[in-house]
Amino acid sequence: MMALNLHGVGDLRYEEVPRPERKPGEVLLKVKAVGICGSDIPRVFSKGTYHFPTIIGHEFAGEIVEAEDSALVGRGASVFPLLPCGHCEACNQEQYARCANYDYYGSRRDGAMAEYLAVKQENLCLLPEGVSYEEAAMSEPAAVALHAFRKSGVGQGDTLLIYGIGAIGLIVAQWAKAAGVKNIILVARTDDKVEFAKKLGFSLAINAKKEDLGKLVEKVTEGRGADTCIEGTGASESWAECICLAKPGGRVVCMGNPLGGMSLPQDTYWKILRKELTLVGTWNSSFGSRENDWREAVQAMQDKRLDLESLITHKFSLDEYKEAFALMHERRDMYCKVMFVM
Ligand SMILES: [Zn+2]
Ligand SMILES: [Zn+2]
Repeated sequence: MMALNLHGVGDLRYEEVPRPERKPGEVLLKVKAVGICGSDIPRVFSKGTYHFPTIIGHEFAGEIVEAEDSALVGRGASVFPLLPCGHCEACNQEQYARCANYDYYGSRRDGAMAEYLAVKQENLCLLPEGVSYEEAAMSEPAAVALHAFRKSGVGQGDTLLIYGIGAIGLIVAQWAKAAGVKNIILVARTDDKVEFAKKLGFSLAINAKKEDLGKLVEKVTEGRGADTCIEGTGASESWAECICLAKPGGRVVCMGNPLGGMSLPQDTYWKILRKELTLVGTWNSSFGSRENDWREAVQAMQDKRLDLESLITHKFSLDEYKEAFALMHERRDMYCKVMFVM
């Protein structure tokens, strides 16, 4: 089969590799759609994977073509890409994202930018009727966004500020809208992202470089401040703004992967104390028997609480990988989700 195999930093090859064999407990998936995650860019161009070569790709959906349980054959599924150790304390609590010793499709072991992938049956998230492979390939970002949204604690009538208009930020905004959050303020530092968010119906999208974000928050909350701010960029400046714009007793959710060391001016740090803010981290998503962000995400795709297809700005076939990666790496165009469709 053909696959995108990473042989070293900057050395991604579209090449023939052996088709994976299904082991006991696994199903063979024919990959139908796989997104390029923001994290795949440093993976390919600067940081690499844990070993080489590795087939990358961890946001995907496909059709089950071989399984122990014949009832599964022909079904569509997305796949929780994390393979927990199963023995640590986090695993015992079904908090797999906190597992200390996990494996991962598409970074620690081969992933889905290939025609086929054998995956653990217990990692399948079966698709309900009417959910397309393309939207299902966004189950991972949708689950990550839901996980973050749950940590925000906001609900009907509240104000949520989301710093960062990428795919995750926009999906958090969709979860918030579905939950009846009154004011959803989306913040970016470029006009094209703001325009994209507005086109999706988020009228409170703002370019913080050009417009006064503080004034907007003051206006829509009548001076109270945002109930929760979600930092989704991993930059110190936006983290500081989130802390400044949260209401007294409010919350700041740290979601963005840090670009480097994170630091705060003294006055901003004081605001955490004086306003008695709650700072909370969010990581990955839940895939347990009780709390399962994935099942909720595919359900929301089916009942249209989420509109993920609008977020797919670019589609490519696997052999067009150079163009697809360059688009994101060199920011050749405004993009939200870039996806390989097979
Ligand atoms: Zn990802
Ligand atoms: Zn574990």
